[in-house]
Amino acid sequence: MGENNWRIESKLAQIGSMDEPVTGAVNYPIYQATAFRHPKLGQSTGFDYARTKSPTRSILEEASASLESGDAAFACSSGMAALQTVFSLFSQGDHLIVSLDLYGGTYRLLERILSRFGITASYVDTNDADALESARKPHTKAVFIETPTNPLMMITDLEAVSGWAKQHQLLTIVDNTLLTPLFQRPIELGADIVVHSATKYLGGHNDVLAGLIVTKGEELSNEMGFLHNSIGAVLSPSDSYQLMRGMKTLALRMERHESNALAIARYLKEHPQVETVYHPGLSDHPGYEIQKKQSSGNTGIFSFKVTDARYVEPVLRHLRLIAFAESLGGVESLMTYPAVQTHADIPEEIRAAVGVDDRLLRFSVGIEHVDDLIGDLAQALEAARQEVEGGSHQ
Ligand code: PLP
Repeated sequence: MGENNWRIESKLAQIGSMDEPVTGAVNYPIYQATAFRHPKLGQSTGFDYARTKSPTRSILEEASASLESGDAAFACSSGMAALQTVFSLFSQGDHLIVSLDLYGGTYRLLERILSRFGITASYVDTNDADALESARKPHTKAVFIETPTNPLMMITDLEAVSGWAKQHQLLTIVDNTLLTPLFQRPIELGADIVVHSATKYLGGHNDVLAGLIVTKGEELSNEMGFLHNSIGAVLSPSDSYQLMRGMKTLALRMERHESNALAIARYLKEHPQVETVYHPGLSDHPGYEIQKKQSSGNTGIFSFKVTDARYVEPVLRHLRLIAFAESLGGVESLMTYPAVQTHADIPEEIRAAVGVDDRLLRFSVGIEHVDDLIGDLAQALEAARQEVEGGSHQ
């Protein structure tokens, strides 16, 4: 991708636009080929077989490495495929320290699959230095961080934790799905590996499933390239195109996601049927200062707890503009009920201990007009109140 000193907004808008030398097409084409002719024995065009390297995917990967300030990137068929590929760095007997509150699918991968191969994990508040130190074992190999976490928006100081990890020869791996490289670049803060569910903000339109891995350092990049090719959970040429199409408008979309989400979080904070709002852009959030220090913006999702669990079902039923659906990061607003959807695979006692309980709703705020979104929430909360309490406010 073009010049390295361009601002990230320019890099995003221009992904692939200067890479097609034959026609000068400003959108890089979809190369469907899985096989590539060799000029002669011992020679290659740089492309041999599409699982190893494929032209459209390569453009996406080069752009992603540049956006995250990494040395190499690997596009995968989903965020989970990216996570599985990253966790394949580890071997039987290895131990990982992992964010206490995290995406349920990551927990499921660690506890139901990697555990079968003798890889174990301890879940701690990664912002608590004492908790990190007491979780560290002789065979600990890495710290895995979500910041903000999904769904409780807990914030970890990336510079502090990656510094601590380096002292102990541990890798720092960061799931940067919620903030994207537009707002947070963990490698610049000391991380070794960044993972994304690109299905979310990077794609941005709820229409492509994809994952990304970005690595820093030659040895780690080579090892990840080996795993990516050997495991084979790679992104298809057409999905690579679709993802780049989405990424071109990331900066504009994030600006609207951020301002909408903050306005709605402030509205809900004052609402009598809402007990707590978890949004790191609110000044009373415990992670507010760290978030401000290490990122240049806020994500478009946040969670909130209603005062009575009986409101949840009618609220979800009465929402009209906001869809009751299980994802985040797209232009359309979606409301999720983590306890029974995204985080159902985490045992109830663990969920309850961190606060993912039956009163928690997660809101992925889209780019619709903020007044329409607030209006929809207001009518759904009021309808729920009337159903539960049997009557309207006087
Ligand atoms: N990481 C985070 C923070 C997520 O929210 C998700 C999915 O919701 C994933 C990873 C998994 O990504 P995918 O659904 O693309 O496999």
